[in-house]
Amino acid sequence: HRRPQLDAEQYAEGVLRGDLAVLGRAITLVESNAAQHIEKAQEVLKILLPHTGNSLRVGITGVPGVGKSTFIETFGCHLVEQGHKVAVLAVDPSSSISGGSILGDKTRMERLSKEERCFIRPSPAGVTLGGVARKTRETMLVCEAAGFDVVLIETVGVGQSETTVRSMVDFFLLLMLAGAGDELQGIKKGIMELADALVITKADGKNKLIAQTARAEYERALHYLQPSTEGWVSHAYTCSSVTNEGIDEIWKVIRKYRDITGKSGVFERHRKEQNIKWVHEMVDDHLRSVFARHPEVNRIIKDVERSVADGELPAVAAVQQLIAVFECKV
Ligand code: GDP
Repeated sequence: HRRPQLDAEQYAEGVLRGDLAVLGRAITLVESNAAQHIEKAQEVLKILLPHTGNSLRVGITGVPGVGKSTFIETFGCHLVEQGHKVAVLAVDPSSSISGGSILGDKTRMERLSKEERCFIRPSPAGVTLGGVARKTRETMLVCEAAGFDVVLIETVGVGQSETTVRSMVDFFLLLMLAGAGDELQGIKKGIMELADALVITKADGKNKLIAQTARAEYERALHYLQPSTEGWVSHAYTCSSVTNEGIDEIWKVIRKYRDITGKSGVFERHRKEQNIKWVHEMVDDHLRSVFARHPEVNRIIKDVERSVADGELPAVAAVQQLIAVFECKV
C-alpha cells in the first residue's frame, strides 16, 4: 500500500517533532538522485537549517576488524544511558560496488538499534566518494533537526574516505589494533595527523597489557606529529568494548575538546570553514560531471587522449583544446 505523499512542510514538521518514521523518509528523499526529489529535499533542508548544528559530530575510522561497530554499539549505548540521542551514520564508498553497505548496519549493532533514542542509518549508495559524502552531510543535518545531539559517522580506514569524513565532523577518532604493526593496518602518518584521539581497541583479557604497551608507543609517536586541531593535543588511549573499560574516558575527552575549542573559537571556525569547503567541493563535482557529459568534449576526448599518449600533443595544449570546445558550447 502506498503511503501518502508528504510535502516539504510536512517532512520538516515531522522531523522537527522527532518522528522517526518521517525522519527515515526524509533521509530517503535527501539520498534520492531523482530530479523532483532533489528539489523537494532542498526545500525541506531550507526549512530545517535553522534547527541544525546542535550536535557533536564525531568521526570514527579504523581498518576492518579493529572493532568499529562493536565500539559504536558500546559507546552509543553509554551515551544513550547518559540521556543523549545518538545518530549513527556511515560513509562507505564501496557500498555502490558491493551493492550493499557494510557500515552502519543495524544487524551489527543489535543492542544499540533497539534503543529508542538511537537512529542508525547505513551508508548511502553513490558512485563517487563525493556523492556519498554529500548525502551523509545532509542526513547529518536532518538528524540534528530531529534532536539528535551526538552524530557518529563511521568510515573504513582505506583510501580517501578518512579525509572526507574528517572534513564533516568536529572530532575525529582513529581506532587501532595493538601489535598489528602500522603497515599492516595501512596507517599512514597522514591519517594519524587527522586524529584528535587515538584509541587502541580490545584492551581486555590477555590483550590488555599489549594494548597498554601500544598506547605508550603511539603516545610517543603522536608527540612528533602535527596536531590535528589548533589548541588541542591528541593523545592515545585504550578501551574495551566488551568490559566497557575506557569507554567513559573517551567521551570525557570529546567533551573536553568541545569545551576547549568552543572557548577558543576554533570549533565554530572549523564548522564555517567546512561549510565553505563543502560548497566548493560541490561546485567542483558539478562542473566535472557537466564536463564529462558535454557532447563536443565527448566527441573529441578519445582522439585528444590518444594524441597525448602518443606524444603528439602536449598535455597543456590538450587541456586548452578541451576547454575551448567546452566553453563555447556550454
Ligand atoms: P569492524 O570491522 O571494525 O567494525 O570490527 P568489529 O566491531 O566487527 O569487530 C571485529 C571483531 O573484534 C569481532 O569479532 C568483535 O567481537 C571483536 N571485538 C571488537 N571489540 C572488541 C573488544 O573490545 N574486545 C574484544 N575482546 N574483542 C572485540
